[in-house]
Amino acid sequence: MKIKIHRGANQIGGCITEIESAKGDKILIDFGHNLPEGDEKAFDKFENTNALREVLRRVSDVYYTHYHGDHIGFEYEIYKAGVTQHIGDLSLEMMKTLKKHMLKADSLKASATESLEALEHFKIYSAASTERVGSISITPYYVSHSAIDAYMFLIECDGVKVLHTGDFRDHGYMGGGLEKNIKANIAPQNVDVLITEGTMLARDREKVPTEWDLQEQAIEVMKSHKYAFVLCSSTDADRIVTFKATQRTDPKRLFVVDSYQGAQIMNIKNKLNVIYNSLSFNNISKHFDELLPIMVQNGFTMLVRNSSTFERLIAAIMPKIELSQTAFIYSQFSGYIDVNHATFRQSTYNFVHKYDWEIFQIHTSGHASCQALTKVCNWVHPSMAIVPIHKEKGTDFARLKLKSDLKGRIVAQSTKLQKQIDGQTVEVEIEIGE
Ligand SMILES: [Zn+2]
Repeated sequence: MKIKIHRGANQIGGCITEIESAKGDKILIDFGHNLPEGDEKAFDKFENTNALREVLRRVSDVYYTHYHGDHIGFEYEIYKAGVTQHIGDLSLEMMKTLKKHMLKADSLKASATESLEALEHFKIYSAASTERVGSISITPYYVSHSAIDAYMFLIECDGVKVLHTGDFRDHGYMGGGLEKNIKANIAPQNVDVLITEGTMLARDREKVPTEWDLQEQAIEVMKSHKYAFVLCSSTDADRIVTFKATQRTDPKRLFVVDSYQGAQIMNIKNKLNVIYNSLSFNNISKHFDELLPIMVQNGFTMLVRNSSTFERLIAAIMPKIELSQTAFIYSQFSGYIDVNHATFRQSTYNFVHKYDWEIFQIHTSGHASCQALTKVCNWVHPSMAIVPIHKEKGTDFARLKLKSDLKGRIVAQSTKLQKQIDGQTVEVEIEIGE
C-alpha cells in the first residue's frame, strides 16, 4: 500500500492525504484550500484544473474529516471530475447553510451556486460505521474540534491499519470522549500508522485554556459590562455554548444572533440535542425594532461577524447604549488582529477597533495541545510510523514526551516500511510531499 502526503507535511491547512492499495484503489482524505494570508486569499496551485486533475487521477472517493475551509474547498471541481465525496450529515447541512447564505453576496454567488450543486451529490458517513471503497475500508470516529461533526478515520488497506486524526482537541465540551474512543475502539485494533495533526507543536509552552475556562472569563466580563458584542465563528458550536453561558449571571440578558447564525444553531440543535439543546436565541435580523428596547433595558450578548450588515446593526445600537458598559469580545486567533503577526487582517482589526469600547480577547485553540498530541500518540501506539501533518515547517514531534519506542517511528521524509502478515511481506510506502 502507499500513503502520500500531497500537502500538509510542512504547513497548517490545505492538507491532502492519499491512500492507495496494492490493487490500485485510491482515496483522498481532505482536499482544502491553503489558509488565507492576512486579508488576501492565499495562492493555491489547485486553482489550476490540470494540477487538481493530476492529484485526482485514479481517485474514486474523497473523505472529508470536517467542514473547515482548509479541509474542503474544491468540492465543485472534484464533483466535476466524477469523484464521490463523503462527509458527516451535520457537516453537510452546515455547508449548505453557509453556501445558501453566500448566495446573497453578488461576488460569492457564482461559486456558492456551484458548491451547492456539488453538495447535492455528497454521500454521508456515520460514526463507527465502516464503508468500503474497493479494497480499502474506512471507519469514521467522532472527535471534538472547533468544527462540530468532525471525525478521525481508521483505514484498513492491504492488512495495514492507518489512523488519520484530522483536526482534534481534548479541551472542548466533547473532548472527554477522545480517550474513551481511542482506548475502547481504536487502540485494540492495533494501528500500524498514525497520521496526526500537529498544529500546536510550535506552541508547546502555552497553557491551553478549556472552553469551561472561557465561560468563566466571559462571565467575569459580563458582570461589569451590560452589553457585549462577540466576534467568533458562527459554526463553532462549543464557542457559541460558551458565550450563551453568560446568561447564567442574568437570565434576562438577551442572547442575540442574526438569521445566518440562527440557522447554523438550529442545524446543531436538530442533530445534537444533548449538549447543545440550551442554545435558544433572539434573531436580530427578523426582529430588530422589537428587540432593541429590550436589549437596551436587559443587556445583551450579541454574536457578530465582520460584515457590512453587522456594521449597520452595530451603528444603530451604539447610540442607544452606554459605551462604558459595552465590551467587544474578540474570540478568534490573536494573530489576525496583531499588526506584527504574519496573519494580520486589517479589515478584522478595523472592525474590532471601530468604537472606543473595551476590548477583551477570550479564545482557545481548536487544535490538540502538545499534551493531547503526546497522549494520543502513546494511546494509539502505532507499530510502524507516526506521520505528522497540518503543522508548521520546522516543528518536530520528537520534542513531545513520546514513549521511547515511538520516537524512532516519526516519519518526516519519504520512506518504505514493511509489515509481516501471515508470513507475507507487505510494503508500506510513505511519500512525504509539501
Ligand atoms: Zn479544522
